[in-house]
Amino acid sequence: MSPIVDDSMIEPCPEGREDWVIAALQEPLEDGKVKCLACPRYCVIPEGKRGACRSKINLNGRLCEVNFGKVSSVAMDPIEKKPLFHYYPGSWAYSIGTVGCNLMCEHCQNWEISQSDPLDFPWLQTLMPEEAVNGAKRAGALSIAFTYNEPTIVNLKWVVETSKLAKKEGIKTLSITNGYWSKETRELLAPLIDAANVDVKAFTDEFYREVCKASSLKPVLETVLHLKKSGVHVELTYLVIPGLNDGEDEIRSFARWVVEEVGSDTPVHFSRFYPHYKMRDRPPTPIETVDRAREIAIEEGVKYVYTGNVLGDPGENTYCPSCGELLIKRYGFDVLKCNLLEGNTCPKCGEPIAIIGRCTTRGWRFL
Ligand SMILES: [Zn+2]
Repeated sequence: MSPIVDDSMIEPCPEGREDWVIAALQEPLEDGKVKCLACPRYCVIPEGKRGACRSKINLNGRLCEVNFGKVSSVAMDPIEKKPLFHYYPGSWAYSIGTVGCNLMCEHCQNWEISQSDPLDFPWLQTLMPEEAVNGAKRAGALSIAFTYNEPTIVNLKWVVETSKLAKKEGIKTLSITNGYWSKETRELLAPLIDAANVDVKAFTDEFYREVCKASSLKPVLETVLHLKKSGVHVELTYLVIPGLNDGEDEIRSFARWVVEEVGSDTPVHFSRFYPHYKMRDRPPTPIETVDRAREIAIEEGVKYVYTGNVLGDPGENTYCPSCGELLIKRYGFDVLKCNLLEGNTCPKCGEPIAIIGRCTTRGWRFL
């Protein structure tokens, strides 16, 4: 049987609750089972059951998305918070989170929403695709970000429909994601997404298996390469956790892969770990470790390397990879100064800088 790639319309789910819709990528199997094609788990789901991410249910041999348009959080975020530093710096991203995830990372900082059951969650509001796009327009956002948990997978149908509508209305679309996508999801979403920040959580299969309960690192790297090849603006985040993925060899291998396979102008963010969820007893990452990871990546030839979760660190700024000139000064998520010529070149040496869109300052925010 051939896979159903239903991205043409929103179809109600027969026999489901009235707000459920037919899920985007699925393949009917024998005995009324359905295979979910959204992520590399490829869950085979029997009648009446849900897949590992709990967002797709098999009703009468068809998979329904149970959380279509069900959101847990909507906020105007600086695009730097995603983090995306090289895509319209200083712009606002209308950021939407939902409930659920296809990974089960022990250190998740958003575990209250990512590891909850979408059918048993206390504060969900409904936000249909047209409401999301209108909200972004009204708020004056440049983009809509699918973020916080993993809407890109667990709300795949909703993300597809919202993105299609956003494109029509001139709103950019951002996927902030773990990259644990199937081949089918990559092909469906790459044409609909303008920019992505993909978490590379470690550079070993062991970490993905033990900490995230995933099969391996490979699908994540394949997603990065697919998005890049498809013309999506890609930045990478590597959360450095003491004792788990902070070895010099591992960071170096990751940086070499970026240079050799993805491109040396791909921005990389090394972020500082803080204790969360099942890793509450682990200490925060020493700042020196995050700074050292940044240095290693620069040594390996990555041109734009940042530190994250280290307020006031020089690694928050953008420097010219050719002459070292300070090009964008940041403090946390704030852009304090843009020092780029028209067309995003270095004012000192003329080096073209791999930044899409004009840099603007929002100035200080008072919280
Ligand atoms: Zn320069």
